[in-house]
Amino acid sequence: MTIYESLGLKKVINASGKMTALGASAVKKEVAEYMAQAAQEYVEIDSLIDKAGEIISSYTQAEDACVTLGAAAGIAISVAACITKGNMKLAEQLPNSEGMQNEIIIQKGHSVNFGAPIVQMVSLGGGRPIEVGQANKTESFHIEGAINEKTAALLFIKSHHTVQKGMVSFQAMADIAHRHNLPLIVDAAAEEDIKKYYQQGADLVIYSGGKAIGGPTSGFICGKRELISWCKKQYKGIGRAMKASKESIMGLLKAIELYVNEDNHAIALENKQKMEKLAQNLADLKNINVSIKQDEAGREIYRAEIKIDEKAAKITAYEIIEKLKCGNPSIYVRDHYANLGIISIDPRNLKEKDDEIIADRLHEILEGITNA
Ligand SMILES: *Cc1c(COP(=O)(O)O)cnc(C)c1O
Repeated sequence: MTIYESLGLKKVINASGKMTALGASAVKKEVAEYMAQAAQEYVEIDSLIDKAGEIISSYTQAEDACVTLGAAAGIAISVAACITKGNMKLAEQLPNSEGMQNEIIIQKGHSVNFGAPIVQMVSLGGGRPIEVGQANKTESFHIEGAINEKTAALLFIKSHHTVQKGMVSFQAMADIAHRHNLPLIVDAAAEEDIKKYYQQGADLVIYSGGKAIGGPTSGFICGKRELISWCKKQYKGIGRAMKASKESIMGLLKAIELYVNEDNHAIALENKQKMEKLAQNLADLKNINVSIKQDEAGREIYRAEIKIDEKAAKITAYEIIEKLKCGNPSIYVRDHYANLGIISIDPRNLKEKDDEIIADRLHEILEGITNA
């Protein structure tokens, strides 16, 4: 029985990938043990924050880092830092930033919802979001045309949620920012590469600890030393409402250490085998066709893609997804292509035997219909 089942909550099998709504990542045992120890002791939090920054920087190769409650908090804190520039009197006035240099420029196609609106996190940090261009087309002149004496920073969102075509590239944004002596903030919440954006010219880069890194609910901002010191100051202001706990900071540190030393290739192949086994277990089912597909963004993730012949099966992919979700355990799959009759199984968060439970449940659902 899981600890959540002891409260009467349903057990969840997560075949959907990293989903904040399901608790993002289930941490490794070593991470959990590190967190449990950390939670039982006292520490000077300011010193812990500084030390965590040093350790994280050894992995990101940026000058310094500031731990956060998550990537969303990272956006608010980065924005607050760029607006108040280390001035505590201004930091205490936030999120009211009247009279301050408070405009944050973002491309319209980057103004997305990741579970909450990006621009709301900008406002939380005292920023005035200035959305430029059109939803499907933004050009350099839109960005440059919006820069004025009230501009505090440019914000670039690197995510599958954003419009992927017709946007100003990261490199072009970095060039514009530096030509105008403005900081470029990058939200790279779910990205796997924790060095690239800083190396290629971002001033502050935001990551979620609970996504690619597989840590607890946490995050960090890495970047230029002075900007990071301004980020840390926000913990005496708006950051207090989004503080990172000592145990989650420690969990994040352990999770990054494991993450950078992981053999991703070996893990991907092991997961691929698990999906091949699932495909075999489903081979006897009529009206579906299972194949192994690599991630559409080219990452080394292999998923089982189940194509349903909806007419012959007398059930749609959406209906199957709903039935999987409503059962106990509750099974969450990827539904990105459900409109095409496709259900996708992501192996990354599956535990031992979860693939067998999924196969059994699909048999029940699909055979139940033919036998009805
Ligand atoms: C998930 C996500 C966030 C929020 O991350 P949290 O760590 O959950 O706060 C912010 N931006 C993007 C692009 C995301 O995908």
